[in-house]
Amino acid sequence: MKLGKISIGMGDRFAHQGVAQLRAIVKANKAGMDISPVWNKSNREHIYVHSHPADVRKEADHAVATLDFKGKYFVDADHINLSTVAPFVETADFFTLDVAAFIGKPSPDAEVQKFVDSCSAYMGDLVIPGIQKPIKVTRELLVEIASKFLAATQQASEIYQYLVEKKGKGQFITEVSMDEVEHPQTPVYLFFILKMLADKGVPAQTIAPKFTGRFNKGVDYRGDLDQFAREFEEDILVIDYAVKQFGLPEELKLSVHSGSDKFSIYPIMAAVIKKYDKGLHLKTAGTTWLEEVIGLALAGGDGLEMAKAIYADSFNRREELCAPYADVIDIDPARLPSVEEVNSWSGEKLANTLRHIPGHPDYNADFRQLVHVAYKVAAEKGDAYYAMLKKYSDVIGECVEENIYERHLKRLLNI
Ligand SMILES: [Zn+2]
Repeated sequence: MKLGKISIGMGDRFAHQGVAQLRAIVKANKAGMDISPVWNKSNREHIYVHSHPADVRKEADHAVATLDFKGKYFVDADHINLSTVAPFVETADFFTLDVAAFIGKPSPDAEVQKFVDSCSAYMGDLVIPGIQKPIKVTRELLVEIASKFLAATQQASEIYQYLVEKKGKGQFITEVSMDEVEHPQTPVYLFFILKMLADKGVPAQTIAPKFTGRFNKGVDYRGDLDQFAREFEEDILVIDYAVKQFGLPEELKLSVHSGSDKFSIYPIMAAVIKKYDKGLHLKTAGTTWLEEVIGLALAGGDGLEMAKAIYADSFNRREELCAPYADVIDIDPARLPSVEEVNSWSGEKLANTLRHIPGHPDYNADFRQLVHVAYKVAAEKGDAYYAMLKKYSDVIGECVEENIYERHLKRLLNI
């Protein structure tokens, strides 16, 4: 089983926007792309919105049937581990093995030694085709990398083996993710992580490292663009070389998590993948839910009331809602409008404040991040919220489609 060269991971918290999301992909494909849509949902999300992995499969199949989509599509068990994977086995065909929690866990000394010894061919000046400066690889560096990543890659191999037993070899896409950590993995780390995965028989098709800079949820990238550009290009070259050296799947590509809204790095990524004719998996960060709130605001009437009620709850429960996402948001409370102020707004004003149009005078990234992490509030409203999604499905669907196509795919793929 193989992904298309470009694949887009789309989250849909409340499972009502699959068709609108797919419409955006179809539009891009009509413009000459061949994007594989992937619907992803993590265990954490399922718990918050009381959904089941089978619901995602249902939604994906429904969207594909509705639009008579003929391309490949996938359902991603996002950020699973050995203790959470079981309920996803039947209905997912893409598994994101999240082994970040095992980074730095100790491995037996003998394992570390064995790995270091197996790298003797790469000691000294490691020359990776395309990378100007050779990388200095010392025994100390290899011990450090092994100590950091052997346990994590071992964990990936255990989850992978579990899936092979349950689903059969080749019956699913394997992604390995290490992005939800504080420290980035440099290109040289990535090279040896890939060696470990190959040694342990994990045929990763996508890999999600932690890149330099902030990938906050729902807002633009923050960091040094030149450094990101260098690192991203080196990662691509490292993967290319690692595939050849270690016999990993030739389609192996980078997966960029929390990839929605990172508009300032889209042209960089677009240029690099074009330069080397490489693929990319871009996983968005559940921002479709924000388009629901925008659509409700634009709908006016009880839709706008619902959008305002959601903001009021988000504002009043800010600390509780932000706590689980503390590492991936940066909200300045002083920049959040009061509930009274928002209650006096028009739908247009609320939508403009929430919608991510860089440079728009009303756009407020703090507001946007707060609403982004507040989907639990809408989940708690249950049927009242779902009724609004149905009532205003047309206007919401347009917002969802426009967000993915106009603001994301066009920028990312130079359409
Ligand atoms: Zn992730």
